[in-house]
Amino acid sequence: MKISKIFARLIFTVLILSPSSCFCEWKIESADLRRAIQNNTKPPEKLMPSHELPPRTNDDGVIRRVKLPEGVKAVAVTFDMCELDTTTTGCDMAVMNLLRERGIPATLFMGGKWMRTHSRRVKEIMTEGGLFEIGNHNWSHGNCALLSEEGLKAQILWTQAEYELLREESGVDDIPEVPTLFRLPYGRNNDRALRVIAGLGLRVIQWDVAAEAGDNSDIKRAKRNAKKVAAMTKPGSILLFHANLVPKGTVNLLREVVNILDGEGYEFVKVSELLTMGEAETVRDGYFSRPGDNHALDKKFGTDGTGRKARFTGKP
Ligand SMILES: [Zn+2]
Repeated sequence: MKISKIFARLIFTVLILSPSSCFCEWKIESADLRRAIQNNTKPPEKLMPSHELPPRTNDDGVIRRVKLPEGVKAVAVTFDMCELDTTTTGCDMAVMNLLRERGIPATLFMGGKWMRTHSRRVKEIMTEGGLFEIGNHNWSHGNCALLSEEGLKAQILWTQAEYELLREESGVDDIPEVPTLFRLPYGRNNDRALRVIAGLGLRVIQWDVAAEAGDNSDIKRAKRNAKKVAAMTKPGSILLFHANLVPKGTVNLLREVVNILDGEGYEFVKVSELLTMGEAETVRDGYFSRPGDNHALDKKFGTDGTGRKARFTGKP
């Protein structure tokens, strides 16, 4: 046998047998695209989770970042995966594959209705619980500053119940029984919302770096934006991205941001881990980049953020 043939066979064997070859890409399908799956406005099959979290006696405010001990360089990348009552969005498998390929742990804040739309993908994601943790992002993006107390409770509990249902169906038992972290749609809250969320046992996680600014489909633009994102990032930062194909070109931006932060010696951790590494820095009123910059969104997405004209009451 020719040397080159032996060499080729050797490479082939190494690729097939080596453990690093077990990354297998999740194939992007048309059902992953935005609005590809028909909208379903019905309440979830199960309205209440069977697992109840112990109430948190104090609300912890809105966590924007974590103050880490001197010299510790860790950040958390987070992704919102959400849709309104009135439409469906996508599941950004290119983002998911990039995170898996690079072994970057991430926290995924999923809307309950979005989980039902993309249930097959959620169950796949659940099988990689070592890399991904799932947080609660309300049922249909209800605005926590505008919902009634009953409406807010239903938005949260329906989502916990949907997660439980999919966890059961996935057959995975090494992930938490229900999410313990919560992300505010539109970053909006008030004191009552913080009390209700804490009463249901969840901690509110926001971000100090809103990463996506406009369209990142163009690689050059994504590279420029990534430099700005990296410049805003500090040890203990929580970065906000989306993985629902609503902002365009997120995967390009993410790749560049990860490359820069990796080069600067940052370690990527899930939010739950970041919280154990230092002291949470909080505010009372969530915002994107400056206090009050999200209040204008109150009037844009229906009566209470869900896209509907009628109030969301939580009564099926
Ligand atoms: Zn969202």
